[in-house]
Amino acid sequence: MRKFNFCAGPAALPEPVLLQAQQELLDWGGRGCSVMEVSHRSPEFMAVAERAEQDLRDLLSIPDNYKVLFLQGGATAQFSAVPWNLFGAAGSRESWVADYIHTGQWAEKAIKEARRYGRVNIVASSEDRNFTYAPGPDSWQQSENAAYFHYTTNETIGGVEFDYVPEVSCPLVADMSSNILSQPIPVEKFGMIYAGAQKNIGPSGIAVGIVRDDLLERALPDIPRSLSWKIAADAGSMDNTPPTFAWYLSGLVFQWLKAQGGVEAMAASAAQKSALLYEFIDASDFFSCPVEKSSRSRMNVPFVLADERLDKDFLRQAEEVGLLNLKGHRSVGGMRASLYNAVPLEAVEALVAFMADFEKRRG
Ligand SMILES: *Cc1c(COP(=O)(O)O)cnc(C)c1O
Repeated sequence: MRKFNFCAGPAALPEPVLLQAQQELLDWGGRGCSVMEVSHRSPEFMAVAERAEQDLRDLLSIPDNYKVLFLQGGATAQFSAVPWNLFGAAGSRESWVADYIHTGQWAEKAIKEARRYGRVNIVASSEDRNFTYAPGPDSWQQSENAAYFHYTTNETIGGVEFDYVPEVSCPLVADMSSNILSQPIPVEKFGMIYAGAQKNIGPSGIAVGIVRDDLLERALPDIPRSLSWKIAADAGSMDNTPPTFAWYLSGLVFQWLKAQGGVEAMAASAAQKSALLYEFIDASDFFSCPVEKSSRSRMNVPFVLADERLDKDFLRQAEEVGLLNLKGHRSVGGMRASLYNAVPLEAVEALVAFMADFEKRRG
């Protein structure tokens, strides 16, 4: 029996996708083997790869002057890849500077990695209020000659999401790992977008990169080849053996998303699901959400109980009624419900009903 899964990542996948993968596992399209057991350069797999790219292009209306890359090393590899790929046109090493918005744990990891290569200018930070909001553009301190501007569109751990796209004069780079494909995005405003797959795309082991083609010429000369966007682009993301099964499964998710009505439908669903949960939490005097209302994530909803001694009971009883993986990140405690595309409205309805009942009983 499938249960309702609120895991932050690797996260729930659409049931029809899992069923199709299951059906095709021993005999993929009459070939007598699975998709995992053929060459990534075979015409059969090339067709899978090309279809996945085209479907992603359709879903996000990606302009032709952007390359779509299927990358390895997760979003974390991109924390390093971004400075390696974009500092090369910025003159001598002393002048390498990049602008970053600091919004919490993922932003911080990206910042720490960039600091290994150049100077990081913190344009804005929400540390003053414990990373409970997305800073607005009024107070920014942008540098004059930044090689790029980086931000995290959705902080998966803190549950903070930007509801606007920064306007900047250098290439805008975004870590969209946990809210990509949950709404339409103006791709043309970005220089580079990256996302690990295991939240809103597919299984872990693959990451998506969307990069404007003129930025492929800005890499540092001694960039490791496995981090180079240009090498990946020139090789059709097959400079070395890609994670073919993850790529195939991501492609099935793209097909599923199209059949659901694309990112517009996902945006409507995300608004409905998150509103249901936030409204319940705000009306309750037992549960509360620490994030400021204007910056609340539609994907990751952190919340706490009025009495943390009841946390264990809450999690145990939730699991008993089929509500999985509600424990908050180990660094912050409390609870977190992740409401990615593959989490149905019924899951959130069941969660709210359980929370209301738990509140009445106080454990
Ligand atoms: C999960 C996550 C990452 C890390 O992804 P990995 O694939 O584990 O490297 C980075 N950024 C954000 C916003 C995330 O949610």
